[in-house]
Amino acid sequence: MQLLLMGPPGAGKGTQAAELVKKLNIPHISTGDMFRAAVKEGTELGKQAKAVMDAGGLVPDEITIGIVRERLAKDDCKKGFILDGFPRTVEQADALKNILENLGIKLSRVLNIHVPVSDLVERAVGRRICKKCGATYHVKFNPTREEGVCDNCGGELYQRKDDNEETMKNRLSAYESSTKPLIDYYKKAGIYTEIDGRQPIDKVTEDLLNVLSTVN
Ligand code: ADP
Ligand code: ADP
Ligand code: ZN
Repeated sequence: MQLLLMGPPGAGKGTQAAELVKKLNIPHISTGDMFRAAVKEGTELGKQAKAVMDAGGLVPDEITIGIVRERLAKDDCKKGFILDGFPRTVEQADALKNILENLGIKLSRVLNIHVPVSDLVERAVGRRICKKCGATYHVKFNPTREEGVCDNCGGELYQRKDDNEETMKNRLSAYESSTKPLIDYYKKAGIYTEIDGRQPIDKVTEDLLNVLSTVN
């Protein structure tokens, strides 16, 4: 299955992708995670991405498309994948179409996790991530048993630098102007489904799996 998880920043894409990976056993490809790894490693890509990410803007299309093209060519994607946070612009969506055509595959479904803008700042600002295993929590909506400590692995939690109110304003406006048009793009392609992302995490997962049970 070739899946695309869409939704505004903080909608729950990463959280749901982690659940789907467990069920479907296909790789989770998050451009945000790839950029953060590059920033941490201090690579050339990381240097190019850092300032844009810290400001809540979008990394230029040619850079982003290049890393996804490379990633999708890897062997583990042959059995399917879950794209998260890519595409974010119409140019990226066109490029994805082209990349997949060259690989002889198509997107099976686009799942848009819908959450109203009024909820998103609180979700992002309260997000906490495990340094060691990458698990995502929320101080209020999905807290760890012990504050600051990962339930899965005991690792220390951190807060993303861009998860603050100021940067979220820019991320939300980038979403509105550049990413939202993709809803119509994929509706026209006939592969679009919207999920109510305001429900509890496990209910959202259930809805996603229900949709996927009808996809071959
Ligand atoms: P969120 O899931 O909260 O929206 P991500 O982890 O997906 O955040 O992305 C973090 C940042 O990485 C974005 O704000 C943007 O700067 C950059 N980024 C991630 N994916 C893309 C993309 N497809 N195109 C351009 N920039 C991207
Ligand atoms: P995205 O990848 O779309 O930016 P995340 O999966 O990282 O979003 O979720 C953003 C924040 O919201 C995290 O702190 C996460 O724990 C929390 N969250 C995710 N899904 C829900 C939900 N259904 N209800 C409440 N909080 C949620
Ligand atoms: Zn952990």
